[in-house]
Amino acid sequence: MAVPKRKTSPSRRNMRRSHHKLAATSHNECPNCGEQRRPHHVCGSCGHYREREVVQAKS
Ligand SMILES: [Zn+2]
Repeated sequence: MAVPKRKTSPSRRNMRRSHHKLAATSHNECPNCGEQRRPHHVCGSCGHYREREVVQAKS
């Protein structure tokens, strides 16, 4: 089995982990109208939530 010859230094380890961050998901597509919509929020343009429920209708 291949074994590392040296212990990974904290600097190397941290450089490797510098790419591990997650991108913040602030907007998702509304499944009803395709408009950008914030997760866990009623869609601002069509008033839908969870694909079918009509919560509010905008004029
Ligand atoms: Zn919508």
